[in-house]
Amino acid sequence: MQTVLFHSTIFGPIHSRRLGSSLGVNLMPDDGKICSFDCLYCEAGYNAQGPGTSGLPTRNSVSESLEAKLSQMKSSGAPLDVITFSGNGEPTLHPDFAGIIDDTIALRDKYYPDVKISVLTNATRIGRPAVAAALRKVDNNIMKLDSAIPATVELIDRPNPGYDLDQTIGYLAGFGEQGIVQTMMCRGEHEGRVIDNTSDAEVEALIEAYRQIRPREIMLYTIDRPTPEVNLKKIPKEELEAIGKRIEKAIGITVQVSA
Ligand code: SF4
Repeated sequence: MQTVLFHSTIFGPIHSRRLGSSLGVNLMPDDGKICSFDCLYCEAGYNAQGPGTSGLPTRNSVSESLEAKLSQMKSSGAPLDVITFSGNGEPTLHPDFAGIIDDTIALRDKYYPDVKISVLTNATRIGRPAVAAALRKVDNNIMKLDSAIPATVELIDRPNPGYDLDQTIGYLAGFGEQGIVQTMMCRGEHEGRVIDNTSDAEVEALIEAYRQIRPREIMLYTIDRPTPEVNLKKIPKEELEAIGKRIEKAIGITVQVSA
C-alpha cells in the first residue's frame, strides 16, 4: 500500500509547480495519516494505513524545528518563496493550528519577512471560527473544491460523515478574495464506478460554485505522482488549459493551470 510521503514535521525546501521554493510544514504524524477526506488521488495514501504511532507534533516542537531550519537556511543564504502547510493529512485538524500559525508568522517576520505563508486545506474545518481566523492571517489559503456535485465529492474525496457541500461552498464564499480555490481534475474508475470531473455538467456546476465564492484565483491541477487508486488518469495539459479558459471567460477570475 502506498503510505505517507513526509517523514518529518519540517520538510524541504522542495520546488513546487505552483508555489516555487517551498518549505513544508506537516502538522500530522510523520509515520501515519489523519485527514477528514480520503481522496482517491492522495499522495500520502489512503487513511486506512492508520495514524501511525508518533502522534501529532506539539506546538513547541513545530516552532523549534521551524526556527532551526529557517535560521540554518538564512545563514547559508538559501532562497525561499513560501512556507507551506501540507503533509500527511489536513493541517487544520491540529488542535493548536491557530497558535502554530501565529508562531509561524513571527518566525517568518524574523528570518524571511518577504516569504509568503500558504495553507493547503480541504476546507472541512473553515466553518470553525478559530480556524477561519487563523487562515485569514496567512497570505495564501489554498482551499480544495474538486466538484460542486455532491455525488462526485463523495466518490473522489470520500469525506468523513456529516460533510455538507453546500455549506462548505457558503464558507468558501465567506473567504471570497482571501481564498484561492484549488480543483484536482481527473478521470478513471474506482470500484467499478466511473470518475470524471471534467465533463460539461461538472464544469458548469464548478463555474456556478466559483461564481458564488468569488475567490482571488482558481488553481486547476491534475495527477502528478502515483495515486492510491491506480485507475486514475492525468488530464492532458491542453484539455486542462481549455477548461481554465472556459472558466475565466464565464466568471472573469484568473485560473492558473498546472499539468
Ligand atoms: S484532503 Fe488532501 S491530505 Fe486529505 S485525503 Fe485529500 S489529498 Fe489527501
